[in-house]
Amino acid sequence: MRQRKLRNLDTKYEAYADLIIDEPAEMPGRWSERSGGAPLYIEIGCGKGKFISELAAREPEHYFVAVEGNKSVMLRAMEKIRKLGLTNVCFVPEHAGNLSEWFADGEADGIYLNFSDPLPKNYWYKRRLTYRDRLKSYFRVLKASGTVTFKTDNTDLFEWSVLEIMAADLKILDITRDLHADPEASADNIETEYEAKYSGFGEKIKRVVIGRRTGADDCGSEEIKSEDMIKSIAAYNGREVPKEDKVFASVARARAATQEKGAEAIFNATAGALQDDSGKLVVFGPVAETIRSLSDTDFAEYAPITGTPEFREAVLKAVFGDFVPKSYVRAVATPGGTGSVRTAVDAYSCPGDRILTHSWHWAPYKTIAAELGRSLECFEMFDEEGRFDLADFDYKVKKLIRNQEHLVVILNTPANNPTGYSLTMEDWYGVKKTLDEVPLDKKVALVVDVAYIDFAGEPAEVREFLRVADNMRANILPVIAYSASKTFTMYGFRCAAMVCLAHSPEVADEFERICSFSARNTWSNSPRPAMTAVSRIMNDPELLAKTEEERAKWRGVLHARGRAFEAAAREAGLRIVPFTAGFFVTVPYAEPDRLRDALEKKDVYVISIAGGVRAAVASLSEDKCRRLPAIIKETIDELESCAE
Ligand code: PLP
Repeated sequence: MRQRKLRNLDTKYEAYADLIIDEPAEMPGRWSERSGGAPLYIEIGCGKGKFISELAAREPEHYFVAVEGNKSVMLRAMEKIRKLGLTNVCFVPEHAGNLSEWFADGEADGIYLNFSDPLPKNYWYKRRLTYRDRLKSYFRVLKASGTVTFKTDNTDLFEWSVLEIMAADLKILDITRDLHADPEASADNIETEYEAKYSGFGEKIKRVVIGRRTGADDCGSEEIKSEDMIKSIAAYNGREVPKEDKVFASVARARAATQEKGAEAIFNATAGALQDDSGKLVVFGPVAETIRSLSDTDFAEYAPITGTPEFREAVLKAVFGDFVPKSYVRAVATPGGTGSVRTAVDAYSCPGDRILTHSWHWAPYKTIAAELGRSLECFEMFDEEGRFDLADFDYKVKKLIRNQEHLVVILNTPANNPTGYSLTMEDWYGVKKTLDEVPLDKKVALVVDVAYIDFAGEPAEVREFLRVADNMRANILPVIAYSASKTFTMYGFRCAAMVCLAHSPEVADEFERICSFSARNTWSNSPRPAMTAVSRIMNDPELLAKTEEERAKWRGVLHARGRAFEAAAREAGLRIVPFTAGFFVTVPYAEPDRLRDALEKKDVYVISIAGGVRAAVASLSEDKCRRLPAIIKETIDELESCAE
C-alpha cells in the first residue's frame, strides 16, 4: 500500500532537524564530526526505518547514515529513531546519486541496499542501485575492507546483480538465495518491513555481501599479488588471471634442464602424461595405427555437436565396462575431460554459487569455477587418521545446500590428481548417505571426474562405485566426466565424454539438450578423428583386446612405480598424502614453492600445488621412483634446519 501523503511535512520535519543532514554535499571528509569517529555505515533507501533502527540499537558503537528519497516514508523512520532515543543515526532526505558527492574516498565502512527498486524495464538498468558503475562508485567511498550488503526478494534483480558484481570486478564474500532457511547466514539478519511482509508470502529472500577483490584464496592456494595480474584491456569479470601458468613454467624448466644435462641426470616429475622409462610419451600402438588409418573425410568432416552416434555408443561401453546401469544414461562428447567438467559446472550451478570439491584437487576446478562466475569451496579430503573426511563432506554439502538451489560436487576418483587416492566403497556409501539427506527440492550434480580410471586398477574393480552412483535419489544427478585423452593416450586429440545417470528420461534428455547447447556456444563440436578412432577400437574385438592388453601392461608399470615410491617414502620417513594408484603422488609441505625451488637445485622437477608438491610417477622410471623420496626428505630436512 502506498504511504499516505502526510500533511504539513515541513512542519513535522522541524521536530527532527537534529537528525537531518540538509546539505550532504558539504559533508565529504567531515562525517567524523557527526559520528565522533565511529565506523560509518550507510543504508541507501531506509524506508520506514525498521532495519536501520534495529541495527543502530544493536550496534551502538557504529554510526549510521540513512538515505531516503521519499520524505513522508522517512518521517516514519525518524520517529522510530527518536522513540528509541538513538543518537547514532542521521538522515539524508534525498535520492542517492553519486555517493562521492556526499562522502570522501574511504570514509565509510559499509553500505546496505535493502529491497531496492528492481526497475524492471530493460532500459532502466543503469538506474538500478546494483548497476556495475554504481557498485564501483560505492567502493570509492568505502574503506579497503568495506562491504556492500544487498538483499532482495526479486530473483531477476538478484541474478542480474550477481553478474554486475562480476562485471564490476568485485568479489562475492557471501551469498545465499534463501536467507531465512539458512540459520548461519540469517543469525544476524534484521528484517525490513518489506522483508517481513514478502517472506511471509513464501518469497525467498536473497542476500549477497560484496567486497573488493583481493586475490585472497578460499582453498589454501597462494595469493596472487596485484603486480602479477594483467590489468589492461581485458574484462576481468571477477577472475584472477596470472601472467604465467605455474605448471607449464615448471614443465618448461624441466625440459630445458633435460636438454642441457640429459634425461638420466634429471628427475622430471612434472608431466601429466604417461611416459616410458626414458621419458618418451607412451602412445598405445593400436591407437596410433587406428589414427593413421583414418580417411581424409574422417579427419576433415564436422562432427555432430553431441558427438557421432558411434562414439556415443562406444564411450558408454568404455565408461561402464560390464556394468549395466538401471538409470537413464546419455553421453555427450566434449573436447577432453576438461570440457566435461566445465560444461557440468555451467549447466548445473548458478552464477555466484559455490562448487564443492576436496581440498586436494586438480587446479582447473577453481579456475573453471571463476571463469564462469562461480567459486570453489573445499571440504577436507582427509581427516587426522588419513581417512576420506566424510564428516567434513557432510558438513559442507549441508552448509552449501542451505544457501543454494543447485550444488555441483566434483569428486575426482579413482586415482585422484594430485594424490593418487581412490575413494573406497565405504567412502562411496558415506557420500551417498549425505546426498540422500539433501532435501528433494534442492538439486545436486555429482560430477565424478574419472580421468585416470583406466590406470587406477582392474577395470571391474575401479568401476564398482558405479553401483552407488546408479542408485542415487531423483534430485541427485551423477555425471561421469570421462577422458578418452588419457585412456587411449591421445591427449592432444581432445577426446572425452560426459555421461549422466538420470532417474527419469526427462532429466536425461535435458542433460543432452543443455550440454549440447553449451557445447555449441563454446567449442561447437569435438574433433571427429578422435571420436572415430575410439569407436573403431571399441567396436573391433581384436583391436580392443590389443589396446586393453597394452593398457594393462602400462597399468602394471605405473603400479610398480607407485608402490616403489610409497615403499621408499616409508623407508626415508617422508610423509605422503594417502595414495592408492595412478599418475601422481603428493608430498604435503607448507611452503610448496620453496620446496620446489630447492628440489630444482638438485635436478628434481615437481609441480608446486596448494599445500605440497606433486610428483608424477607417470613420468619417472621405477628406479627413479625408488630414489626420489630420500632426496625430497633430505631437502625438506635442510629447509627445516634453515628455518630453525
Ligand atoms: N581431470 C583431471 C583430474 C585431470 O588431471 C585432467 C587432466 O590432466 C583432466 C580432468 C582433463 O583431461 P583432458 O581434458 O586432457 O581429457
